[in-house]
Amino acid sequence: MCTDRSLGTPFDLGAAWVHYADASNPLVGLLAKAGVETRRTNWDELALYDAERGKLSKAERDGIEEEYETILDKVARQIRAAGAAASIGALLTPLVNATFIGAARVRLANWLRGFYIENEYAADVSDISAWEFSDDDKLPHKENDRFVSGGYDRIIAALAKGLDIRLGEVCHRVSTTDAGVTVETSAGTYDVAAVIVTLPVGVLRAGSIAFEPALPESKQDAIDSLGVGDFEKVVMLFDNVFWPAKPHAFGYAEPLRIDHMRVPDSALQRRLNE
Ligand SMILES: Cc1cc2nc3c(=O)[nH]c(=O)nc-3n(C[C@H](O)[C@H](O)[C@H](O)COP(=O)(O)OP(=O)(O)OC[C@H]3O[C@@H](n4cnc5c(N)ncnc54)[C@H](O)[C@@H]3O)c2cc1C
Repeated sequence: MCTDRSLGTPFDLGAAWVHYADASNPLVGLLAKAGVETRRTNWDELALYDAERGKLSKAERDGIEEEYETILDKVARQIRAAGAAASIGALLTPLVNATFIGAARVRLANWLRGFYIENEYAADVSDISAWEFSDDDKLPHKENDRFVSGGYDRIIAALAKGLDIRLGEVCHRVSTTDAGVTVETSAGTYDVAAVIVTLPVGVLRAGSIAFEPALPESKQDAIDSLGVGDFEKVVMLFDNVFWPAKPHAFGYAEPLRIDHMRVPDSALQRRLNE
């Protein structure tokens, strides 16, 4: 989580939405208490453009989403039988390939895959475990997303009030003895009673922190086997707001490129020739 203000307007480089923003989400209460406003993003108000055909009608977009959701439902029903090692891609791709035929439909299928799955998990479908989809509740859905206005860091500022927070210190070592815990950082050493480590999995995987004694094997195995994806945003600043208040978002079904297809060339060729 990191709010950038260098362009003169707050922009969240990481988290920007509260997902599943209903009463059971503790973030909702925290945001209200901190006086941070949120705005609902209605993903139905998304204008989808195709590289060759231009803007799709709402009816067409609804239609392809319905088709995709039917496929995802089928995938959800296959998961138990597929076993723990199956990727979501292994189950999804054959069904999508059988339904979305021809270059224009393949472009849309690629967009749907990103919108429904890969943007949520920052990973290729072939790298995402199907167990994530083991029941309907776990299917990613976008019904209750709220955009945090004015920067997500405002909630951090509210939570941090009165706490002694040291920024800019890189932790290198965490040593635990019967007497307590010693934390070594780029700024010094702290002897404390206990430590809660919330470092990103990528940092733990890279072995940037030495733990003494070493972490239990089961924890280290879990860290080593969890994948970490890249997910980036590009920010553009315009002099004027030339876009309407609705739609809330834009989608773009890209021209087909081999490196975007993530399918073996022969399979791609077959589908493009159809
Ligand atoms: C582009 C993008 C968009 C996202 N959008 C959303 C969204 O809309 N909604 C949502 O809920 N989630 C979103 N996420 C996910 C969300 O940002 C993360 O789940 C969340 O920030 C994780 O919080 P964290 O505290 O675990 O880790 P982080 O927010 O990554 O914080 C970890 C901190 O540890 C610090 N650190 C690293 N190494 C060391 C070290 N050796 N010593 C000391 N400090 C160290 C880092 O500098 C960082 O400040 C998005 C992520 C990305 C990348």
